[in-house]
Amino acid sequence: MDVPAVFLWVLFAVWGACFGSFFNVLIYRMPREMSIITPASHCPGCKHKISFWHNIPVLGWLFLGGRCANCKEPISISYPLVEALAALLGFAAAFLAEPSPWQSANLVKSISLFWLFLTLIPIFAIDFKYLLLPDTVTVGGILFGFALSFFEGSIGWLSSLIGIGVCGGGLFLFSVICSKILKKEGMGFGDVKLFAGFGAIMGSELACISLIIGALLALIVIVPYRLLAKKDMKSPLPFGPFLGLGAPVSYLFGKDIIWFFVV
Ligand SMILES: [Zn+2]
Repeated sequence: MDVPAVFLWVLFAVWGACFGSFFNVLIYRMPREMSIITPASHCPGCKHKISFWHNIPVLGWLFLGGRCANCKEPISISYPLVEALAALLGFAAAFLAEPSPWQSANLVKSISLFWLFLTLIPIFAIDFKYLLLPDTVTVGGILFGFALSFFEGSIGWLSSLIGIGVCGGGLFLFSVICSKILKKEGMGFGDVKLFAGFGAIMGSELACISLIIGALLALIVIVPYRLLAKKDMKSPLPFGPFLGLGAPVSYLFGKDIIWFFVV
């Protein structure tokens, strides 16, 4: 498909906002083990159903002046903020995939980055707080990556399949061995599924780079934080956010990183 990149910048910003709206639902409901489909969005205070117009990302909240249309209870500003952030990330995905506005857009690269950027929101919001990763994001990533691999310009279905096996299997084995040696629960299965999804999207080589970046980030952030906050070094660690941050970095620059260290 031949569309100018600038068209995708705008479209992905709008899509991003819609995903942000969905993530608000996911972030609220998933740790509470509520369905993400039913019931429809409603005010947590008075259960009043939120109308379509009031549900439009960012604008709905602004229009309502940040209050429920029915009971006038304040609606948290975190909702429009998540939607605005998601719009920004959507824009960034399309922009980084093709920064010259009138060049034809790189669709597969834009969509891959869109997924890797946008899913950071639920990963951060849920894993840091509850130490779990939603299947919508982890299993979703595996399915998304594999489906995308059939399109022109992607890594191809075989590389995607190998990516899922190598990354998912490898990290699972690593986690089992670690838990045997350390005699405590190792890495969460959510991290394994998340990593398998990265393998599906970018292939095993680049996914491994994202794992290394993630592990380094976790080390840089978590160790000083736990020392300063005097937290127990052995308490479980939310690894998903760091792994998640490593993914778009590796997708964009992984080949340069490999080249830098190998050549
Ligand atoms: Zn209300």
